[in-house]
Amino acid sequence: MTALAWGALTDTGRIRDVNQDGVFSADGVYVVADGMGGHSGGEIASAIVVGEMAKIKTVSSTDELIEMVQRANREVLERAREDPSLYGMGTTMVALVAMTDTDAERLCVVNVGDSRLYVRTDNEMLQLTDDHSLVEGMVRDGWISPEEAMAHPQRNVVTRALGVEDELLVDAWELQPVTGDRYLLCSDGLTNELSDAEIREILDDTDDPEEAASSLVQAACAAGGRDNVTVVVVDVLDAEATESSPPSDRVIATRKDAHDIGDAAAVDAVAADEGASDESESLELDSLSWRSFIDWRSIEGWPLKWFAAAALIVLVFLLALLAVL
Ligand code: MN
Repeated sequence: MTALAWGALTDTGRIRDVNQDGVFSADGVYVVADGMGGHSGGEIASAIVVGEMAKIKTVSSTDELIEMVQRANREVLERAREDPSLYGMGTTMVALVAMTDTDAERLCVVNVGDSRLYVRTDNEMLQLTDDHSLVEGMVRDGWISPEEAMAHPQRNVVTRALGVEDELLVDAWELQPVTGDRYLLCSDGLTNELSDAEIREILDDTDDPEEAASSLVQAACAAGGRDNVTVVVVDVLDAEATESSPPSDRVIATRKDAHDIGDAAAVDAVAADEGASDESESLELDSLSWRSFIDWRSIEGWPLKWFAAAALIVLVFLLALLAVL
């Protein structure tokens, strides 16, 4: 078994009255959720999701974990249907779970929304999750720079959340645990206040994961604390050594749900992780673009969405014209 040590902390911050973030940490199960919605909806949504994930006893596949996320999504929707004052509540979720009942030791990650998972290896720190957010789409489409995104007034708008629709798009990864690696799960209350470099410095300077978690929260509050801040730091103390050297980003497999057309990051990830022949690579690319074409919701970039809407209006107009003639 992979031995892990961890520290977790959540804080209301310096501006907000309530903490709508949720957090759970136990040996092998780590969850951060960032709730949204008025009339205490945000707290309830994140609490439902954290509570569902806290029930995890064993996970033997990525699919199994995704199914748990889907169940949590249904729980939030059901609760909102029972109580109309909670209508519109939702929550992000990122979770890191140590797989059990498998031969190979693996860590499983699932993500919906703009909470993040980072890994710090012996020589770099990487953000493994994509943000499902409006500004992330704008950066990807080249409308704004990553620096502009950090200060954008709509940087809190997420394009995916639990509690919105029956069908939920979930991104998932399978990772190889490596002794000495440190994982960070956090809500956007941390990343909107601190740069990656500032986060990395704290992670490098603090050995104890509990102290590291509390230093990160303190730093985010000192930088403004404009949002609820939640942090989980997980250290891999002892992982099974493998014959071949682990991938530099620790990613063994990626399973991303439908992405928009021309999503280079998703295409790259699929291509890299399949690592197989050119044939399977192009098959993946085909199915990816095909799904993108038929799934309207997967068109996350606003420019594309407006273009599609305009094209539809023109088409209807032309049909009407044809009918008149
Ligand atoms: Mn937040």
